Parts: sequence; structure tokens; C-alpha cells
Amino acid sequence: MSEEVQVKEEKIPRNFITDIIDEDLQSGKVQEIATRFPPEPNGYLHIGHAKSICLNFGLARDYHGTCNLRFDDTNPVKEDMEYIQSIERDVQWLGFKWSGPVRHSSDYFDLLFNYALELIDQGLAYVDELSPDEIREYRGTLKEPGRESPYRNRSIEENRELFLKMRDGGFEEGKACLRAKIDMASPFICMRDPVIYRVRYATHALTGDKWCIYPMYDFTHCISDAIEGITHSICTLEFQDNRRLYDWVLDHISIKARPHQYEMSRLNLEYSITSKRKLNLLVDKGLVDGWDDPRLTTISGLRRRGYTPESIREFCRRIGVTKQENTVEMSALESCVRDDLNANAKRAMAVLHPLRLVIDNYGEEGVDATSFTVPYHNDKPELGTREVSFSKELYIDEADFREEANKQYKRLKLGFEVRLRHSYIIKATSCEKDENGKVICVHAEAVPNSAGRDVEGHKPKGVIHYVDANNCYRTKVHLYGRLFKVPNPGSCEDFLSTVDPDSCTVIENAALEASLKNAKSLEHFQFEREGYFCVDSKSYVEGQPQFNLTVPLREAKKANV
Ligand code: ATP
Ligand code: MG
Repeated sequence: MSEEVQVKEEKIPRNFITDIIDEDLQSGKVQEIATRFPPEPNGYLHIGHAKSICLNFGLARDYHGTCNLRFDDTNPVKEDMEYIQSIERDVQWLGFKWSGPVRHSSDYFDLLFNYALELIDQGLAYVDELSPDEIREYRGTLKEPGRESPYRNRSIEENRELFLKMRDGGFEEGKACLRAKIDMASPFICMRDPVIYRVRYATHALTGDKWCIYPMYDFTHCISDAIEGITHSICTLEFQDNRRLYDWVLDHISIKARPHQYEMSRLNLEYSITSKRKLNLLVDKGLVDGWDDPRLTTISGLRRRGYTPESIREFCRRIGVTKQENTVEMSALESCVRDDLNANAKRAMAVLHPLRLVIDNYGEEGVDATSFTVPYHNDKPELGTREVSFSKELYIDEADFREEANKQYKRLKLGFEVRLRHSYIIKATSCEKDENGKVICVHAEAVPNSAGRDVEGHKPKGVIHYVDANNCYRTKVHLYGRLFKVPNPGSCEDFLSTVDPDSCTVIENAALEASLKNAKSLEHFQFEREGYFCVDSKSYVEGQPQFNLTVPLREAKKANV
């Protein structure tokens, strides 16, 4: 990370949560803040999680508190080691360190079981033998109150005995569950005797076959927060109602610590999916090249696309933290990476659609350079220089030559001059065509001694880039557009049909300046006049890098360019 970026990196901008924390510290309600990031290991992290990570870890950093990483692993059937490893890697890559060991809700299964017994012993939980369908039906609706289960008024002794029977494998799945006894007429449906334990015969990644009953999220989360001494437990707005249950559980068990839940709006980003379930579908159906497909806004996809941790953190700062639901434009994310790479990425020349250019007077006096020493970044001498090779035969981009064009066209046309970037002024004199009339070679004359300097009587209208046809690196370049044809794919019933099959264009044989052969995995470059690119990590072989488009130099005018 460069010094400038570090300096630019400020604290989390003030928001309603920092207001609450300031008050809590001032009033002495808390001495030191403790937050946590609690992913469920059922998929890879996405840009929405980045918002939560930057907030939770950022608050801990700014207030000299702590932030735990806790896997919310209460659902044994969906979880996977691959996801656990990817989540740890992504949090670290974003630049954060969790305090102490990685934690798991499953670390607390024994404690949670005992707290469930505490509820039973107070007559505040009961074993229900209604089927899951019946429980749903009895729950009522927003307009109708729920009905009480016929099993609701069992004795404490009977409930204790049945709960132990549940633990010991005495019930099949769906035949019994433990419910909190709260209020079937509550206006908050989550308070209508929520299920807090269910039977599941599944092997858990960490606890193996020790348990055949598993605690539910609402029961687990608040107690895990209390066990870890979390002070500010931040979640998204969908959990607003559940805050009542969060508090109810903690009010009725013997634990002393008192965390509080605060809700913020989720990040919704245009042209992107932020639901692990839907991301999983895209991966499973083979519509993308894995969870790290560069068109996905997963953290691993963004990394492979060429986003930097600094640019993602900056994005999270810019979007802020509020309770207002809104959708952020993709261009907001793109401009963060563009700003970062503009300041920090090395420059290089790459010809994506090569067209031969012959300098007919090459070798004459003043037109005989074999290379030029060029800085990687004009404003960053510390990035060093490279040798850009030059010879009689070059490649320029097909789009940079026309036989005829009007004054707006500032590139090469017959009879007119342009400057080759970092090199000579040239004038196009003629061109050769194939049998279809397609231009396949351009001939030009270079102005002697014009490399890197003005020459009287010559006023080139534009600058174009080139590579040496006799000394360049040929490779694959992937140009990415938006994965979805519509800005809000998540709201479409069949979101899979909104995938744009043309969202990735592969250039098989681009011509890059020779120095790029040595680029390292994930190294960033600005290909001058084209955009920001990085070395693809998945296909990386030393000496044979392929490149991915991160973003074009400027914001596209059309939606899907
Ligand atoms: P998903 O629908 O992708 O599974 P989730 O909320 O179920 O999302 P978790 O792994 O449970 O995923 O989330 C971990 C943390 O990240 C939670 O605290 C959650 O609130 C937060 N989070 C998830 N998605 C977003 C989002 N789009 N914006 C902000 N925070 C999010
Ligand atoms: Mg979840």
C-alpha cells in the first residue's frame, strides 16, 4: 500500500452508530467497544459483506476496541471448509485482523444447551410436537394472531425430559422442537413462540456427530454475542423485529453481559447479486467461472478483476452507514478503483487489436532508436522505468488508423501526423488491404529526431500507442462487461435469464509491450488509452500472464460497454 493511500485513508465517517458509541463511552455504559463479524459459512463473501466488515473492524480500529470473526455455523448441512477458508482469506485481504482466535457459534453448543435448560426450568420454553407445517399454520399472519400449540402447557419436568430425549436422539427430524414460550398474539411474528432448537441428524464440520439438535440463529446469536462480551452487535434492517427476541432471550437467562443490537441498511448494488444463495446458483449452473469469476461482486471476484483492498474500503467509506434502504450505482464502485489505480498502477502499452505499421524510413539518421526508457508512472519516479522496444515494424490498434476521417479523429490517417507515445512523430503514407478490403498494414515515415521532442513545422494532432512487432508479448486479454442485462437482477423472478451471455469478450492474441511478460499474479497496470488491467490469478503461470480488464479509463456512456 502506498503512503498516499494510507494518509488518505480516514476513520469511518461519522454515522448514527458512531453517535451511539460516543454516547455509550461518554456515559460510561461501556469502557471499551467490542464488535464482531458473523458470517454464515455457506458461500463466499460479497461486496455487501465488505460493508459490514469495514464497519465492524473499522469501529474496533477507530475506537481501539476489538472485533471478533465468528462463524455462525449453526446449520450443519450447508457449511463447508472451502467457505470457511475463503472467508478468512477475504477478511485478511481486505486488510483486517480479528482479535484472538477465530470463533464459532458451535464453540458454545454446550453453553447454549444449558441456557435452553434455564428457560425450560423457568417455564419459558417447551418441547412442541407439532409438525413444521402445523407450526407455520398456527403462527398466524400479520393480520391474524397465532394459536397456541396443544403442547404449550406441558410441565417443566416433562419439558426437561423431552428436551433431553431430543438431545439423545429420541425424536426423528421434524417430530419435535424446542420453542420459547413468549406470546402467540404478539404483533411481532418472531415473538410468537419462536423455535429455538430443532432436530438435525447431520455431521457438523467441527462438532462431528456429537449433536443431533442444533440451536436456531435468533437464540444463538445474542448468547454468542454475550459470551464474547460484544458491546455493539450490528446487523441489517431485516433483523429489526428480531431485536425483541434478542433482548428477550438475554433478559431471561443468567448471563451477565449485555450486548445491544443495532440495525443498518444493507448494501444493494446495481448490476450485482448480494445473496449467497443466488450466487451459489450462478456457480452451480456454470453461468460463471466459479465464485471468483471477475464479473461477480464477490470479494474474490473483485480481487481477480483487479480491485484493490484500498478501493473497496474507500467505497465502503463513500457509501456510509444509514438506516435508509437504497441502491448504489455500479459507477460508484468503479470510480473508487479507478481513482486508486490512477494514482498507483504502473503504465504500460498494450495493443488489443494489432495492425502492422511499417516505418519505411527506419534506420536513417535520426530514426534509428532501438528502445526508449520510459517511466512506469509520470508522478511516481519510485516505480522506476522500463525499456520500450522500437523497430521498423510496429503494431498499432486497428481503431487508431483510418484512411480518411474528419477533424474530430485525432489518430492516424493517410497524409497526417500523430505522435507515437514516448517516441517519434510519424505520418501515414499508404496502406495495404486484403482481398476483402480490410486494412492489414500501414506505411509511415517518421520525422527524424522527433522522439520525445517538438520539431518545428510538425504539429501532430494526437498521440497513439504502439508495441514493437519484433519484440512484444502476445497473450490473452479478457474484457468484462456487466454480468447482468438489468440493473436489479435480484428482483427478477428468473434472475438467471438476466445473465448477459456477451459479458466477457476474450481477445486471444493481443500484443503487449515486452516488459509485461514478467508481470506478477494480480499485478495492476494502466494500459495507456485503454483502461486498467490486472494479471489473472487463476490462469497465472510465470512468464505467461493473461490479463483481465478491471475498468475502462473513463465511465462508459452506454450501460453495457
Ligand atoms: P446472504 O443473503 O448473502 O447469505 P447473509 O446476511 O445471510 O447474506 P451472513 O453470512 O449471515 O450473510 O452475513 C454476515 C454479516 O454480513 C451479517 O452481519 C450481515 O448482516 C452482513 N451482511 C450480509 N449482506 C449484507 C449486505 N448486503 N449489506 C450489508 N451487510 C451485509
Ligand atoms: Mg445468512
